Amino acid sequence: MKNETILQEILTFNGNFVENHEYEKYETTKYPNKKMVILTCMDTRLLELLPKALNLGNGDAKLIKNAGALVSHPFGSIMRSILIAVYELQAKEVLVIAHHDCGMSGLKAEPVLEHMKEQGISEETLNTLAFSGIDIKEWLHGFDNVTDSVKHSVGIIKQHPLMPKDVPVHGLVIDPKTGKLDLIVDGYNG
Ligand SMILES: [Zn+2]
Repeated sequence: MKNETILQEILTFNGNFVENHEYEKYETTKYPNKKMVILTCMDTRLLELLPKALNLGNGDAKLIKNAGALVSHPFGSIMRSILIAVYELQAKEVLVIAHHDCGMSGLKAEPVLEHMKEQGISEETLNTLAFSGIDIKEWLHGFDNVTDSVKHSVGIIKQHPLMPKDVPVHGLVIDPKTGKLDLIVDGYNG
């Protein structure tokens, strides 16, 4: 029995998928049927659970993911993606959906830096970055409270100078086990 790599396994499956026209049931357009863009976390538990729990099928929403569902910079790639969804892809509402038990909750930079060193990143490299004015610890830092984090990200989006004022920005927290949503910010009310 040969040991397939994950990549080989994917490519083999993919060949059959295309050949059997299994893509046909997913055919849709790049414009979201439900006119929304969602920012959520890359957590594995949300991969299928989140769309199912929100009744979203292929083509229903633009979905942006990162670690923690965070907008850490008003001119970073997450904010750019949200603006493109709004201006070019017909999204009319924004949802930020963080989750309980997130890996970014309480994440401290020190252990991550230790793991980097264990995997071959030299002290010299870290020092060079520090001397270049890059605060790696601040950059790696997650959040302390998921509710506050959602409110913060919603605030950055809502108050962004390039964001149309009439686009509601909602903030929610999802349970990664049950899919239950808690509403943190109702974007229709301010
Ligand atoms: Zn997470």
